[in-house]
Amino acid sequence: MPELLRPGSVDEAAGLIGSHGAAAAVLAGGTSLLREIWPSDAGYLIAVDGLGLDRVEARDGGWSIGAAVPLRALREAVPIPALQAATREIGGPAVQNMATVGGNLFARAPFGDLAPALLALGADLVFASADGEATQPIDAFYAAWSDGAPPRAGLLIRIELDEPAGASAYLKCARRRYSTPSVVTVAACVETDGGTVSAARVALSGASAAPFRCGAAERAVIGSALDDAAMAAAAAAAEAAVTPATDPVATDWYRRRMAGVFVRRVLAQLA
Ligand SMILES: Cc1cc2nc3c(=O)[nH]c(=O)nc-3n(C[C@H](O)[C@H](O)[C@H](O)COP(=O)(O)OP(=O)(O)OC[C@H]3O[C@@H](n4cnc5c(N)ncnc54)[C@H](O)[C@@H]3O)c2cc1C
Repeated sequence: MPELLRPGSVDEAAGLIGSHGAAAAVLAGGTSLLREIWPSDAGYLIAVDGLGLDRVEARDGGWSIGAAVPLRALREAVPIPALQAATREIGGPAVQNMATVGGNLFARAPFGDLAPALLALGADLVFASADGEATQPIDAFYAAWSDGAPPRAGLLIRIELDEPAGASAYLKCARRRYSTPSVVTVAACVETDGGTVSAARVALSGASAAPFRCGAAERAVIGSALDDAAMAAAAAAAEAAVTPATDPVATDWYRRRMAGVFVRRVLAQLA
């Protein structure tokens, strides 16, 4: 069985992760990790519950969200529609009380339902290592995933989120209404200027090996009204861009079609 280590500071935790390398796994809410522990390569579990990462701080123009903030606490602290919808769609109340923001960002498909919301909102991720802190745009974090798994990214300590300039929405396509893995999840954040879309971020999870921003869908709506034609073009662009997998939840064929359907639906909420 792995040994549980409980560092008392971020510096100590980052040092332990650095010195134990691949033998160390970060333990947050444990709702995913504890099911995978045995058999597991992890010799050491580095608990994050004593690091002061469980707070959301409102700052000028946005929020600093600790990586160990539970999903329910995130929903209560940050009044952004796409984020609130995403946290409601993850598991049931027990999971939302235990599972953390950081843990969900590392979840592998078909989990990881928070990612599209934070991609659409343009969040930055802050990591700690023995060399200090480093900030990475969330797009770049997911672009570095390989075969559906995150790289050894170190300790995620917080998420920096600016108040969005536009309106946001989020939808999850799933087989059941509650506590169910996703077929696909989609989020969008759209800014308009005089009825024309001036900026858009559209992101999906479950539709490819890692969550991603769909630039083709964004380009389909920028510069025009958010009308039926633009939304249909964005849906077609999303269907062409995704590279879904078949698993017990859904076939790749169904996921591809639902990616298009749900991109259109999420944009329709913002029209
Ligand atoms: C009944 C049930 C229903 C579920 N339903 C959903 C669902 O609908 N949607 C969904 O997306 N997920 C779902 N999940 C999966 C899981 O609960 C979530 O993904 C959850 O958010 C994981 O968070 P956690 O804090 O429990 O992470 P943990 O299990 O503690 O860790 C998960 C992974 O993240 C890494 N990690 C955690 N924190 C950090 C950090 N700060 N820095 C670096 N690495 C870190 C861990 O090392 C591990 O690899 C469900 C799970 C259960 C048991």
